[in-house]
Amino acid sequence: MNQPKTESLFNESLANQRGLTDAHKQLLQEAYVHLEGVLARPEMFAETPSRAVEIVEGLEYHIQQLWDFDPDRTKHRYWCRLKFCSCPTLDNDELFGTGMRRINYSCPYHGDVRVETWGEFEELTGG
Ligand SMILES: [Zn+2]
Repeated sequence: MNQPKTESLFNESLANQRGLTDAHKQLLQEAYVHLEGVLARPEMFAETPSRAVEIVEGLEYHIQQLWDFDPDRTKHRYWCRLKFCSCPTLDNDELFGTGMRRINYSCPYHGDVRVETWGEFEELTGG
């Protein structure tokens, strides 16, 4: 019987190039699983929307560390992928590494008027 192989949530060939051990790759996989969970259902992982933003940023630093890269905020790519974030992901992917971020000023996490509670969020987004 073939066991279905768990799909890697990270670039395995890059991990091999960087000489990451299996234990290390396991930690990376877990970190990406956690990150995907927070991005998709932030209200289950964070008390407030601003806390969700902090958790994602913390995970991005943690993942950089697991990859053995220097911590570098300009090379974060998930902050604009939080559920209901309306900042443009394609533009921000292009700005990767530049230190610039394109913010949608009506984004409930990153914009001018930040939503403080998940309750307000539901009103804004229709649940
Ligand atoms: Zn945003």
